[in-house]
Amino acid sequence: MDREELLFVGICDLVGHLRGKAFPAVDWPNRLIKGVGYTHSNIMMSAFGPIYRSHFGTAGDLVILPDPSTRVDVAFEPGAGEHFCLGGLHTLDGAHWNCCPRDFLRRGLATLAEAGLHLMATFEQEFVYTGVEARAGRTYALDSLRQAGVFGEAVVAALRAAGVTPDSFLPEYGERQFEVTVAPTLGLRAADEAVIVREMVRAVAHRLGERAIFAPMIQPDGVGNGTHVHLSLRRLSGEPATYDAASVDRMTPEARHFVAGVLHHMPALCALTAPSVASYQRLTPNRWAPVRADLGTQDRGSAVRVCPVPATSPESVARQFNVEYRVADATASPYMVLGAIAHAGADGVRRGLRLPDNAGAALLPRSLDAALDALEADAQAPSWLGPDLLKAYVMLKRDEIAALEGRDAAAICARYVEVY
Ligand code: GLU
Ligand code: MG
Repeated sequence: MDREELLFVGICDLVGHLRGKAFPAVDWPNRLIKGVGYTHSNIMMSAFGPIYRSHFGTAGDLVILPDPSTRVDVAFEPGAGEHFCLGGLHTLDGAHWNCCPRDFLRRGLATLAEAGLHLMATFEQEFVYTGVEARAGRTYALDSLRQAGVFGEAVVAALRAAGVTPDSFLPEYGERQFEVTVAPTLGLRAADEAVIVREMVRAVAHRLGERAIFAPMIQPDGVGNGTHVHLSLRRLSGEPATYDAASVDRMTPEARHFVAGVLHHMPALCALTAPSVASYQRLTPNRWAPVRADLGTQDRGSAVRVCPVPATSPESVARQFNVEYRVADATASPYMVLGAIAHAGADGVRRGLRLPDNAGAALLPRSLDAALDALEADAQAPSWLGPDLLKAYVMLKRDEIAALEGRDAAAICARYVEVY
């Protein structure tokens, strides 16, 4: 049978799904300019598929314009590969659409740049691979890696072919759970890479007849799949701006203000970074996942963790020093996660917020509903989104809650396992 290569252009949307359209790859030069058609209500597609409600109606046209720097062409075997490109949502006159998740991040990074800082990040992603047996005692075991066969090596090769620098691949603590990490990179690219990594992991699993499941919880009493975001700051000149060897907590004043902003707005951030009903099954005690808006030095139970760095040269420590945001999972779009962090951190820097005392750290919201209330009630967060995106997001997410009504915890996990 004759075949012709298709290229998919998409946006990782408000529910963290990569959605878009494909066209004959030979049309790339033309599509680079005109993109692929989309419509306003497409952003209201729920995690589970249906548009439950949309105030945008059926009218209106948008385009997803590809960003060529994100193009992925990975040949798994001759004639069978993945060809896609990420993009942003634009109006027909070429402006960024104000409900585009990638634009939310772009605006957050621009606000931070106005405060004199660039954001470096990398997403550490946990998931369950169905291609291994759930055998007792295999946590962190070489045997888990062995059982997974070519999966890990194929993921690493696919990442490299996709232009991402793999850092590690490990059998994690949960049954059949694995984690993949990649090298940090700047702002927008870091979120693009998080999307690419997820898709590459899914693609390799699919080629092997299996699935990679990124849902926050597989079952209510299981181990959570977190997405941890490692963050560091750079001055506009490119100089590292997170580490100060002379201070007790080793942070620069800017880093302290940035983290203070993140902690200050954390109840609201939860609605954007832990944005599903199942996210709140993960954010419960004794799971190595946070339950308070707290800062911990090398503590994996805290919401923001100051990470250890190998004591090499002072320059290398300054470059590698980072803090880890642990309140995220893969039901969130990486653009919304990093965007929320950038906006909140920039607010901290701009207002010179001080780190709060951990003893008084607020409990995180206990449900998506409560997190959405916190988002709407936050003094600044609604203005980062703008009224249009806030309205769309809250409607989309309240409808997600309603769609799960009547299901018990196990059925809720199962529903997310189907779609993430
Ligand atoms: N699986 C844990 C989570 O849900 C994190 C474990 C770790 O520290 O890597 O966030
Ligand atoms: Mg982990």
